[in-house]
Amino acid sequence: MNPQRILVVGAGHVGLYAALRLSKKLRSWEAEVIVVDPQPHMTYQPFLPEAAAGNISPRHSVVPLRRELRRCTIVSGTVTRVEHDRKTATVQPIIGPAREIQYDHIVVAPGSVSRTLPIPGLAEQGIGFKTIGEAIFLRNHVLDRLDVAAATTDPDVRRCALTFVFVGGGYAGIEALAEMEDMARDALKYYPELKPDDMRWVLVEATLRVLPEVDRDMGAYTVAQLLKRKMDIRLETRLESCVDGLVRLSDGDSFRADTIVWTAGVKPSPMLAQTDLPRDERGRVTCLPTLQVVDGDRVVDGAWSAGDCAAVPDLTGPPGAYCSPSAQHAVRQAARMADNIRAVIRGRQPVEYKHKHAGSVASLGLHKGVAQVYGIKLKGLPAWFMHRTYHMSRIPSLNRKVRVIVDWTLAFVLRREVVALGQLHDPREEFVEASTPVARDARPRNENLTGVDPRV
Ligand SMILES: Cc1cc2nc3c(=O)[nH]c(=O)nc-3n(C[C@H](O)[C@H](O)[C@H](O)COP(=O)(O)OP(=O)(O)OC[C@H]3O[C@@H](n4cnc5c(N)ncnc54)[C@H](O)[C@@H]3O)c2cc1C
Repeated sequence: MNPQRILVVGAGHVGLYAALRLSKKLRSWEAEVIVVDPQPHMTYQPFLPEAAAGNISPRHSVVPLRRELRRCTIVSGTVTRVEHDRKTATVQPIIGPAREIQYDHIVVAPGSVSRTLPIPGLAEQGIGFKTIGEAIFLRNHVLDRLDVAAATTDPDVRRCALTFVFVGGGYAGIEALAEMEDMARDALKYYPELKPDDMRWVLVEATLRVLPEVDRDMGAYTVAQLLKRKMDIRLETRLESCVDGLVRLSDGDSFRADTIVWTAGVKPSPMLAQTDLPRDERGRVTCLPTLQVVDGDRVVDGAWSAGDCAAVPDLTGPPGAYCSPSAQHAVRQAARMADNIRAVIRGRQPVEYKHKHAGSVASLGLHKGVAQVYGIKLKGLPAWFMHRTYHMSRIPSLNRKVRVIVDWTLAFVLRREVVALGQLHDPREEFVEASTPVARDARPRNENLTGVDPRV
């Protein structure tokens, strides 16, 4: 028998876990697993806020694919097209011509991208918070703004440098805001020129509450905690524009900010539009609870999907409910899907995915948190502890777990690092300058995310 070829598109929470399980549970004469992802690693997104805050090394919040998926073939590239009718995917490698890969089964798991709106200035001025690159850039940028503010004598430059705006109050936005503020507050101990009150951390949320994943009282507790830390929380408020860093809000307020972080939700990967797979009105691949792709009432042979890009019925919710885009569902769906693919290859029936969302845990900075798991509500230190133990148990591989624990321990004993390595984002600058016969004008250090002078 020829081994079945299983192509995994995307090695995130779904792709990595599914590939790992498939390659362990199927024999080499039964199947070969090919994994395509433009990144050489899986990013454990729930650790991005802690990586940005310097509690975890960036390298330890990602999982190297070639080390973890030794029994799979890894292709570094982007799937640009899927013609399932021909069971063929087009892959664009990092460099060189595109190539076609044929398969018997496809696991469609490219996840989601930031759901942005056509807000003037946002594309030029804002940054998302979904990748390790964004998280580390933001960390360096925030610390760099402290240096800018400490060095300048211009009050406008200082005010603008120390104004940080986060748009969207889901768990990604709240955790990013709270962790970054906590880090900046810590860093200010080494800046005698600056006081914590000089900083302005603004949350802009379109609805009347934050953290929709937990009960209202827990959302209200979170807002109270952030207000206690003197953050500026704007509920029922929208970002209207941010051209050249001039933030205009729907409540009529406007101010300048060097930092605008967009965390207002996600939408399915746009790559799905380049496939012949069925999608719903929100662009998600339509699935059965078995994680098989379904077109109306026809099961699409050999096509599987899960995670942020898939509409998977939630059998524990009311009729018509779908699983939320979360790591919690993604990793469990991955396991169920891998077992179902194995079952189908071995001529057995697939089993439906059923998991009642356990709740959410969110860190609000060192020793602070909020959690609601299986109806149990925790606040402050116990919630923060639960956040850490939960995610530690979830990040793949013993190797990562040990590294993360060592990072936390070192940060606890020696305090976390609060130095900006902004040079990493433009490493050739100095060399280019040295190699240029006529020296360029010294670049002023007051630029914001796009290099616009806030005083203009
Ligand atoms: C800051 C942050 C914090 C979060 N915290 C939590 C939390 O505490 N709890 C929780 O349950 N969830 C959390 N989430 C959500 C959770 O991380 C996602 O729901 C989960 O990652 C979805 O898994 P996925 O496999 O569908 O997508 P991803 O994990 O995003 O993986 C998608 C993969 O596909 C790859 N890819 C994309 N396009 C292509 C293509 N064309 N070809 C090939 N590969 C492609 C990407 O490089 C990526 O590796 C958080 C998310 C963020 C951003």
